[in-house]
Amino acid sequence: MDFIDTHVHLDIPPIAKDQAGVISRAEKVGVRQLITIGIDLASSRETLELAELFPRVYAAIGIHPHDTKGASHDVYEELLKLAGTPKVVAWGEIGLDFVKEYSSRDIQRNAFRRQVQMAGQVDLPIIIHNRGAHTETIDILKEESSGALRGVMHCFSGDVKVARQVLDLGFFISVTGIITFPNAKVVKEVVRYVPLECLLIETDSPFLSPVPYRGKPNEPARVIHVAEEIARIKNTPLEEIAQCTSNNARGLFKLPVP
Ligand SMILES: [Zn+2]
Ligand SMILES: [Zn+2]
Repeated sequence: MDFIDTHVHLDIPPIAKDQAGVISRAEKVGVRQLITIGIDLASSRETLELAELFPRVYAAIGIHPHDTKGASHDVYEELLKLAGTPKVVAWGEIGLDFVKEYSSRDIQRNAFRRQVQMAGQVDLPIIIHNRGAHTETIDILKEESSGALRGVMHCFSGDVKVARQVLDLGFFISVTGIITFPNAKVVKEVVRYVPLECLLIETDSPFLSPVPYRGKPNEPARVIHVAEEIARIKNTPLEEIAQCTSNNARGLFKLPVP
């Protein structure tokens, strides 16, 4: 089997303490590649170091909406430099989080626009984090998109209507272990609706452990549980889910076939 975990935080504890173990357990169950995600400048640097250390790990760099309040002009300039490194395959995670609102909405909006533009400059796909800000996220993408913008809405939390708008923009939709939760009716409906050619899978480790590991730290090996749930919902063989979502990820992030 061939799975790709498209969204992991290898630099966040507790998995940060056992990176080699986490990666090797993932490889053993068929997770052939994974993308570790930056949330600020320090973590973006760390993702890149990990990608240079482990052949199957790729890096995304960016400022998470939570962390935008501290980001100076120099921070963005540094990110631009990192973006030119070969194993950087995406700009993210970036976006809007109006649920926790750790940074003010204005700062988040400005940082999001700025990073969408920067990703365009260096021709990287974007990884979007969006909580409680569906309409605004989509509006900004529409305004900033010159048509060439590519990316994914990670840990999708909208309904079918939002999903349709995201697909209309040509973006992928990525789902986490949340789809295994019994009460996740809306996201399950989204999975049923979205064509397999537009779906990605992720764990968002160390967060969001799927059933039957809820409440425990998550790790990339468990992305298989996400794929299994999609297989159930779409009544499609697991092998097909794995192959198609991996092809999607390789196309979007320009990953080589290992
Ligand atoms: Zn996120
Ligand atoms: Zn994340």
